[in-house]
Amino acid sequence: VKRTLIAGCDVITLDAKGRVLPASQVAVEGRKVVGVGEVPAGFVPDERIDATGKLLLPALYNAHCHSPMTFERGWAEDLPLDRWFNEKIWVAESALTADDVYWGAALAACEMIRAGCVGFNDHYFHMDRVGEVVRDSGMKASLTWCVFGIGADKEVGADLTGTLGFIERWQGAADGRIRTILGPHSPYVCPPEFLMEVGRIARERALPVHIHVAESDEQVRLSVARHRRTPVAHLEHCGLLAGKATLAHGLYLTEEDLTILAAHDVTVVRCPITYMKLAMGSTPARTLLDRCVNVAIGTDGPGSNNDMDMLLATRIFALLEKHVTQDATAMAGDLALRCATRSGARAMGFADAGAIEAGAAADLILIDCARPHMRPRHDLVANVVHGARSGDVADVMCDGRWLMRDRVILTLDEKTILEEADARARAMVGKSMQVVRSYQG
Ligand SMILES: [Zn+2]
Repeated sequence: VKRTLIAGCDVITLDAKGRVLPASQVAVEGRKVVGVGEVPAGFVPDERIDATGKLLLPALYNAHCHSPMTFERGWAEDLPLDRWFNEKIWVAESALTADDVYWGAALAACEMIRAGCVGFNDHYFHMDRVGEVVRDSGMKASLTWCVFGIGADKEVGADLTGTLGFIERWQGAADGRIRTILGPHSPYVCPPEFLMEVGRIARERALPVHIHVAESDEQVRLSVARHRRTPVAHLEHCGLLAGKATLAHGLYLTEEDLTILAAHDVTVVRCPITYMKLAMGSTPARTLLDRCVNVAIGTDGPGSNNDMDMLLATRIFALLEKHVTQDATAMAGDLALRCATRSGARAMGFADAGAIEAGAAADLILIDCARPHMRPRHDLVANVVHGARSGDVADVMCDGRWLMRDRVILTLDEKTILEEADARARAMVGKSMQVVRSYQG
């Protein structure tokens, strides 16, 4: 078992007391943190890292994304949500191949590691290939093969039975770094009978569910017209909230919705950059937190963000909350950082991650503070939430293994990935546009 001592760094623990320790040290043994501040008796490190001038904190968790969608970055600009989907995103995805998914996700993995993120909650297609990226990169992930339930010919790569095969192949793979869950796309695409079937399977097999919900007021109106229930009440009715559930967005919520969410083991994931870019409204996250609903942060897919930078998403999350509530005290202190770390890890089933304390998973990052925007050091938490940039992240560790050291990614061939992902993205949108032209005659 490898022992690493990281010494000389300031430490933001995000522990129960929210301790920040100046010029301290962290001991890692195997996959776990075994000492913070003090080193356990008899601890002899195999590796000693001098981290003087750096800031150590828990690694970030991206709680809702579509990592392979890096190939749609810059492909659907300046459009409202409905046109963004119908005219661009679903057109490009009509030409999607499993190889595209691998390279798109690999590009996303490089980007996430560079911004201090070690875990992601991914919702897409051909997920075996994303599983390969997680295995190779050393990251952690909760993977969902998205299904629609509107006819086998409309599924991408696999129907519900096929996704259950995926779950069996990958559950607990990569030394337990991969978890697999069920992912019906949304209550506005999936028919109610299909949602009920997914709910039944989720209960039988104790599988969590990851689904989009209440992204626009129109979705709420249509749901009430069709089902006589809001999207959240509809999900409850279909049995999808009976176990653990991750709900992406949840932007348009009624009082009754909030009561339902508070009564279940759900996480609502907010992707603030998408909301600003696609001009979507937002029930404040505080409304959910006040009712003890777990709130986590995601980047969403790069077709709508456009990056996978969790540090930036955390900063925008805090700023948007202050702006929307017109309350500068909202999302104060380390709260946004907790949503981006522990709350996201909890949603993804990695309950031992998200804090720097003995017994926690050794998922941590080191931020280089020898930068003008990181001085002075009155408030290290504020420096991270409101100042740090992905380029400041120097080192990233996941489960005790270094994924990046001195800004060099160790687990993936970044140069090849950049070239391959770029070429494939160009080929894919080219192919999809030919399909559109042939339809139009
Ligand atoms: Zn999404």
